[in-house]
Amino acid sequence: MTGVVVAPMRVEASALRMPGLVVLRGGMGPRRAAESAQRLAAAGRPVLVAGVGGALVPDVRPGDLVVATEIDGPDGRVPLPSAPMLAAALRRLGLTVHLGPIASSPSVVDGAERARYARSGALAVDMESAEFAGLPGPVAVVRAIVDTPDQPLWRPGTVLRGLSGLRSLRAAVPALREWCEAAGEGELLLASPRSFCAGVERAIEIVERALERYGAPVYVRRQVVHNAHVVRRLEALGAVFVQEVEEVPRGATTVLAAHGVAPAVRAAAQARDLRVIDATCPLVMKVHSEVKRYTGRGDTVFLIGHADHEEVEGTVGEAPERIVVVEDAEAAAHVRAPDGGRVAYAMQTTLAVDEAEEIASVLRKRFPSIEGPRRDDICYATTNRQRAVTTVAEEADLVLVVGSANSSNSLRLVEVARRRGTRARLVDDVSEVDLRWLAGATRIGITAGASAPPDLVAELVRCLQGLGRTRVTETVRADEDVVFTLPREVS
Ligand code: SF4
Repeated sequence: MTGVVVAPMRVEASALRMPGLVVLRGGMGPRRAAESAQRLAAAGRPVLVAGVGGALVPDVRPGDLVVATEIDGPDGRVPLPSAPMLAAALRRLGLTVHLGPIASSPSVVDGAERARYARSGALAVDMESAEFAGLPGPVAVVRAIVDTPDQPLWRPGTVLRGLSGLRSLRAAVPALREWCEAAGEGELLLASPRSFCAGVERAIEIVERALERYGAPVYVRRQVVHNAHVVRRLEALGAVFVQEVEEVPRGATTVLAAHGVAPAVRAAAQARDLRVIDATCPLVMKVHSEVKRYTGRGDTVFLIGHADHEEVEGTVGEAPERIVVVEDAEAAAHVRAPDGGRVAYAMQTTLAVDEAEEIASVLRKRFPSIEGPRRDDICYATTNRQRAVTTVAEEADLVLVVGSANSSNSLRLVEVARRRGTRARLVDDVSEVDLRWLAGATRIGITAGASAPPDLVAELVRCLQGLGRTRVTETVRADEDVVFTLPREVS
């Protein structure tokens, strides 16, 4: 059942009435709001309260929108967990949106009363939303600001500010409609394992410990792991991310990212007297060792992987003249070697398992004496996450994969889910979830790439539960207890 918009006043309801949106006039003030909340509770529909309101803090201006993360309830603040997704949908419309608590007052507030509400941490105040706090289903609240601490209702200009608020409400309608269509009962299917792997945890810990031991700044060549949130958090702690070691001041502490580097990078770091701490994942190092062994004895190595990925760049750097990157089965069917009897293959660790096997089998057929890994080089974390998402995708209407766009294993999870015929989307965090994807999706699968922090998954789950997908089932395809030791510089 899609949601309804409740607008307290007639003028607000008129601003919001547009095709496809069910708008009810709830009445102004707590008593009328309580009556409509009672009627809506019986109907069991998701409710979005939308109208004008007053700002409590100076940076919330007339015409801005406030989306409530919490509203007042009978026993204190009540969270409205879908707020970040609604705020993101409103921002995509170009509107100025603030996220925070909205307080409710029995009457219009100003002066000392406004300051008192501001001290509670709320961004805005209205007279109705508290009455909807006890509804059993999804609730959201949006207020368009008319009055502010320095422009109260009694000051000239209120009519113009009121019109500005109503214009913002009208402009918000497409996002409100999306929320109403996205809200509804359903289930979340959590794929397990998901999120951080041992190599990523190790790389992050290396940077954190290096900062503790050697002090900021600690330089990090490339993104230590492919996740924008991780990088931002480490930057805030004092890490400085660079593209190449040539950008690092001589002698500085420098961490090499989890994806591994070419020997030429290590040599350049040495030439600059850098204190190097290597965060290369031991499973990537294992592929480097294989490749070195094959090329050392004169083989040509077919490296199955994506040529532009940092891990592949690093591995190729071990012996660029003897390594040929093979990106797909088509390339495998035509690739050549100076001596077809002296060939081997290796793989990027984060490929799709079935695709990599298809490419390897083409190579094995064409070069019968080719040597390669016993099964594949795809790491345990990639394999486990792909197995888990496969199971979940078979039952889901939509799969959401948390991960950054440059994360290879996250992208593969999207592809694996899609190959099961299920819609799948990659999102860096909840703000990238488009509410339109959720319309009609009652069973939503959730996973995360090996570089995506688990708290982003937890936030996504909270938001989706706030939209009505309250049941959560976890499908566990493997238990992971892998831990890698730290390099001696930080252990
Ligand atoms: S995804 Fe695999 S190879 Fe990459 S860091 Fe994690 S464990 Fe290591």
